[in-house]
Amino acid sequence: MSFQQIGVIGAGQMGRGIAQVMATAGYELVLVDLSENALHMALSVIESSLTKLQDKGLIEERPSAVLGRIRCETSMNVLADCDLVIEAATENEEIKNKIFKQLDELCKPDAILASNTSSLSITRLAATTSRPDKVIGMHFMNPVPVLALVEVINGLRTSAETTEKVVEAAKRAGKEPIPVKDKAAFVLNRILLPMINEAIFALDEGCADVEQIDSIMKLGASHPIGPLALADLIGLDTCLSIMNVLYENFGDSKYRPAPYLRQMVDAGYLGRKSGRGFYEY
Ligand code: NAD
Repeated sequence: MSFQQIGVIGAGQMGRGIAQVMATAGYELVLVDLSENALHMALSVIESSLTKLQDKGLIEERPSAVLGRIRCETSMNVLADCDLVIEAATENEEIKNKIFKQLDELCKPDAILASNTSSLSITRLAATTSRPDKVIGMHFMNPVPVLALVEVINGLRTSAETTEKVVEAAKRAGKEPIPVKDKAAFVLNRILLPMINEAIFALDEGCADVEQIDSIMKLGASHPIGPLALADLIGLDTCLSIMNVLYENFGDSKYRPAPYLRQMVDAGYLGRKSGRGFYEY
């Protein structure tokens, strides 16, 4: 096993899921968030998810044994001994640049720095560090314990050794890593987000209501979840960030974020995580 200790930054819906699957795979895990609340919530969500998985016979260890490998901290200094750090903080380039600069200063020289970004350039993120060959994208899917895919994004300077180690760790966690190039929003979100954005345009134009649009895509296209429910699951702020990245990178009006998406975010309706999005939770 290439890594002994793994750090995860951001204990939101993605970070806590990543922490869970990596600790289940046997890694010692440090989970860091600025917010004590987010860390408390993360531990409680992880515990309940592990208990469900145990009831279904899908994990061998007791939840307490997996939780015993997860340490929660509010300071990044604890990441100094990690062999791999996976950043899953808010989708904002300024925040991520700052985190990567800090990680570069405090982590061991051979530590690998990965980002779970949904859309931002790994090459640009890598350029904020002195180790661009050890910076890579590890794009897990939501919900992390359920979905198998991890897009592995190679920046222009990512080394083959870094890719190999990260692919090995993803496989050890039961995931199916697929390498993709460092193009805006990579592959999954480049295809998925314009569909969600279009559903929001259709809603705003009064083509059908929220439930009808979701039912149409479930019944007519065999999607397991409708695009508006999916937007709520992803987080409307994250959806808006991804559309902005697509629009800025390709300069094509087909990627312009729906004004109603922007308005929902302005109103604080971020989806499941804020209790209200296109649906109420
Ligand atoms: P979230 O809003 O649920 O959680 C983000 C967490 O990051 C918060 O708890 C916040 O306190 C923390 N944070 C912010 N700045 C920080 C800092 N400087 N140091 C430490 N913690 C900090 O967001 P999320 O949905 O978990 O998304 C996290 C990342 O994963 C984003 O880059 C997003 O694009 C990506 N992602 C999201 C999804 C999805 O479906 N939501 C899917 C794949 C990837």
